[in-house]
Amino acid sequence: MFGKQITLFKLFGFEVRIDLSWLVLGFLITWSLAKGIFPGYYKDFPEATYWWMGVAGALGLFGSIVFHELAHSLVAKRFGVTMKGITLFIFGGVAEMEDEPPGPKAEFFMAIAGPLSSVLLGLILHAASSRGENVSMPLYGVLSYLAVINFILAGFNLLPAYPLDGGRVLRSILWKWKKNLRWATHRASQIGSGFGIALIFFGALNVLRGDIIGGIWQVMIGFFLRNAAQSSYQQVLIRKSLEGEKVERFMKKDPVTAPASLSLQELVENYIYTYHYKMYPVVEKGKLLGCITTRQVKEVPREQWQQRTVGESVSGCSPENTVGPGMDALKALSIMSRTGNSRLMVADADQLIGIISLKDIMGFLSVKFDIGED
Ligand SMILES: [Zn+2]
Repeated sequence: MFGKQITLFKLFGFEVRIDLSWLVLGFLITWSLAKGIFPGYYKDFPEATYWWMGVAGALGLFGSIVFHELAHSLVAKRFGVTMKGITLFIFGGVAEMEDEPPGPKAEFFMAIAGPLSSVLLGLILHAASSRGENVSMPLYGVLSYLAVINFILAGFNLLPAYPLDGGRVLRSILWKWKKNLRWATHRASQIGSGFGIALIFFGALNVLRGDIIGGIWQVMIGFFLRNAAQSSYQQVLIRKSLEGEKVERFMKKDPVTAPASLSLQELVENYIYTYHYKMYPVVEKGKLLGCITTRQVKEVPREQWQQRTVGESVSGCSPENTVGPGMDALKALSIMSRTGNSRLMVADADQLIGIISLKDIMGFLSVKFDIGED
């Protein structure tokens, strides 16, 4: 369910996307507002009114999260950090940065902007709700719920658990202090991880005490925080280590290539079972035609392997499987993780120059981490 995203609209040049998990969450929120929270606070409304309040509450929550992420994005833009867009998923939102902030000051203001904007929105909604009280009680109910939600949003995000906003604020201070992003991220993510473990522990305790739903939520958020802390740290390490490195550096020259006239049967026996690679560039008369992968071979019924040639099944070069030698290695890595292709062809026009593989980049990273060079 994670990873499937729909683009909703553009706001100030930022794409707003939702993860499909949000649709489920949106329904759950509407339902729990209409059936639980609003009837608990306000008696004797017609059933339909509770449902309208539920829908308005869920939409308002959605808007509040977008507002919060937009604040991050706008401040980031001021500091010259490119933002990929805003994605809402089950635990809230993320404003995705293309790169790390340029310095501790930028990080500090980018991080604090979110919670500050939520507090501000909370105060406005609170003021509006006291006016709404005279107009209609359901309106008052929705507005005061949203005011509280925005304060909670600010409070939760201010937890000093990296990569939450509070953790980013903490990282910016550590970064400023030691002038070392890697060290600051390491410390901040350890604290974030610690928060995650504590939440898992207390969540489990609550489940044992009988608060099953609340406890499960805490455990889930705990796991989420722990994962996020660890993977954000790894991301920083990888980014720092691959900074400025080009594909050329990791590329293997003279890779094994398959001629187009080869039958699939021969490909399987003489290439796949011999070299154990999942992808082979297909070269004909010195020209790169594309590549053939084990995935494509599997799609052809086994009886046809004798007759079908590699040339008939080849898939052409595309940005999904081919990169240039001057491309940033980090970008090649992100293509690998997005497409699941662990080997990419390195080509210049229709000439194959080499192959870059995930294994080679990882090998480089592991020795670099071992030496501990900054
Ligand atoms: Zn935030």
